[in-house]
Amino acid sequence: MSDSLNKIPIKVENSAKQEETVSLYESHKKLYPRAVRGVFNNFRLLFVIGTQLVFLGLPWLQWNGRQAVFFDMINRKFYLFGLTIWPQDFVYLAALLMCCAFGLFAWTTIAGRLWCGYSCPQTVYTEIMLLIEQWVEGDRSKRMKLDAAPMSFAKLRLKFTKHFIMIVFSLWTGFTLVGYFTPIKSLVAAAPTFSYGPWETFWMFFYAGFTYLFAVFMREQVCKYMCPYARFQSVMFDADTLIISYDEARGEPRGARKKGSSPKEQGLGDCINCGICVQVCPVGIDIRNGLQYECIGCAACIDACDEVMDKIHSPRGLIRYTTENALEGKYPEKAIPSRLKRPRVVMYVLVLCIVFGSAITSLALRKPFKVDVIRDRASLVRETDEGWLENTYIIKIINTTEQNQRFRISATGMPEIKVKTDTPDLQVGATLTQDVTVHVQVDPQYATKGSHKIHFIVESVNHPDLRVEEKSSFIGE
Ligand code: SF4
Ligand code: SF4
Repeated sequence: MSDSLNKIPIKVENSAKQEETVSLYESHKKLYPRAVRGVFNNFRLLFVIGTQLVFLGLPWLQWNGRQAVFFDMINRKFYLFGLTIWPQDFVYLAALLMCCAFGLFAWTTIAGRLWCGYSCPQTVYTEIMLLIEQWVEGDRSKRMKLDAAPMSFAKLRLKFTKHFIMIVFSLWTGFTLVGYFTPIKSLVAAAPTFSYGPWETFWMFFYAGFTYLFAVFMREQVCKYMCPYARFQSVMFDADTLIISYDEARGEPRGARKKGSSPKEQGLGDCINCGICVQVCPVGIDIRNGLQYECIGCAACIDACDEVMDKIHSPRGLIRYTTENALEGKYPEKAIPSRLKRPRVVMYVLVLCIVFGSAITSLALRKPFKVDVIRDRASLVRETDEGWLENTYIIKIINTTEQNQRFRISATGMPEIKVKTDTPDLQVGATLTQDVTVHVQVDPQYATKGSHKIHFIVESVNHPDLRVEEKSSFIGE
């Protein structure tokens, strides 16, 4: 943003009664988070590795001769290992979304921003890009020096290497994403000639472009200004939610210690005001100013401060995971787990269990085939050579299993009702759908004028105990 746009001429009087122009917008300042070591950093690295192993590795797994996880948009089928989800199974998608929503509500109420700090894709990709940056350009001070230095061949070489690795990684994420929707092996086969379809090309570059833009350039600005979750999660927080907090009572008054004298004699708290907790923060805030919406709960400041506490021989935990109530001394910190039993947590978990349990039960009881009956409206009723009345229907059979299945079709609801199909050997291939034309014939003495309720019965020869009944109607005379 240009400087002229930054300045909005608002008349403000300062103490000397002079008019000042104040800026309503603050230009973005590049952050140089310092590398940190510690328990929580190890956890974060584990999550980075774990999430990327899952995301980058899943499309390569095979199941029954096909990709184990595959979203086949053209045939409108989703494969999840042994499970095939059809558009008719929309209810499971709704259940999954509800589980995600209530899971997130429960998780946020209990553990605050643990999702943001450890497993959100924005955090994970920013962490990966930061690792690349540190590996190529060095830690905070070296990166700051390099950016401030005039352009030189050495600087150009480092910048080029860094961005080259970042772009290759971003393209890999885009390629993998498309591999969930187009068989990944065919993407590999098409790679040497780059003979991808327009959609594959678009999505590959789109996803790669946004990974690069968000994780390399925008970083903490995505969390601060764009993420909706960051905005609405405060309503899920309460005084018993786990937060990362600075222990003001213990740390203040802050200040550097004089060598050889005890801080108590100097009237100081445990914070030596080294500023390392601010230098490691990926969003550039000072946790000592209290809980702030920008804090993504990454715990880098805990690791950093613990290292400082070790060096000055003070107990760890000046910055730590705690709750507002525990910090105010309303209960001891070891009682934090007992606060899980509070009404809003119980309610979220209960709804989550009900939705999850119902979806799993329904999935377990799901029949290995589905049936849809459509009346052939073009020929409502016709008379056969034997003088019987005949109606025609299309029966759509969806084989939801991974094996071929044979079917038998019959009908009930009217005396002496007969069913004839144009396909005598009714076999439907694994995970396929087949439309079968069916002619239902009824003696005219029973098929009086008007509509008569009938039921189609479709039985699987492979699973004789399983049958699906579908309602329909027979039009007489
Ligand atoms: S790292 Fe710890 S001691 Fe250093 S400024 Fe932060 S809170 Fe104080
Ligand atoms: S304040 Fe601490 S926990 Fe919050 S984002 Fe910064 S380093 Fe991470």
